[in-house]
Amino acid sequence: METNKRTVRTTCKIGACEPFCGLEIDVENGRMTAVRPDEAHPVTRGYACIKGMRVADYQNDPDRLLAPERRTEPGRFETVDWNTAICEIGRRLREIHRRYGPRAIATYWGNAADSTAITLANSFCHAFGSPNSFNVLSLEYTDRGAVASRMFGNENFILQPDAERARYALLLGTNPLVTQGMTLLQRRPYIGAELRAIGARGGKVVVVDPRQTETARIAQQHIAILPGTDLFFLLGILRVVVGERRFDRRFVERHCSGLGRLERILEGIDLG
Ligand code: SF4
Repeated sequence: METNKRTVRTTCKIGACEPFCGLEIDVENGRMTAVRPDEAHPVTRGYACIKGMRVADYQNDPDRLLAPERRTEPGRFETVDWNTAICEIGRRLREIHRRYGPRAIATYWGNAADSTAITLANSFCHAFGSPNSFNVLSLEYTDRGAVASRMFGNENFILQPDAERARYALLLGTNPLVTQGMTLLQRRPYIGAELRAIGARGGKVVVVDPRQTETARIAQQHIAILPGTDLFFLLGILRVVVGERRFDRRFVERHCSGLGRLERILEGIDLG
């Protein structure tokens, strides 16, 4: 029998992580037979984690669901076609909406859902009228989205470090050499080289962490604060910056509000 073999370049869709690491996959008669990181991917440049490298196991697993399953009794299911499943789910959802209101439904997407699927779940809940769309990101990264929303009016405007051009990098409680930069949101497998380059061009990397982490070892300065004191560390920086007027006053006057309130808050805090 003639086999249909080809190699495709694609992105990983296993995790709910944003980098969508580049993969090069051998496909034979519609089945993945080999998976390699894509060296030519412009961001991940040959990096893929263990989950992405096992994507063929997900696709080829004999227990993988390929059609909807309807529960007939506890622990027992029957296979139904998509049209039957969608019509029945729609009928039941309308009934829930009618009897209990839109907030009676919630969705939860685990880490095997990619970011696109999570966006679809959000859209589904919004259309239904429910705010209850939960996913793995409900437990992490919400701080960044909340700050972006307050600062820029959109929770998706999350700033990325400009490591390639930075002259000073302050890293608090993060160890990107081990996390491949994931704690900076976008995975940056070459963050180690980027941080080393800051020092090499005369800049400075400062790591604030109680532990001497792998990243702290390549930094120009390691500040080992006591666990749980990072808030006071940041307040101390603010006290110096605001108290000694070490900021661009014209910029602050044009773009910021609440400086007087911040000054009063800082005056009332005893950092001693
Ligand atoms: S980090 Fe892993 S799971 Fe996430 S996109 Fe890359 S290969 Fe996939």
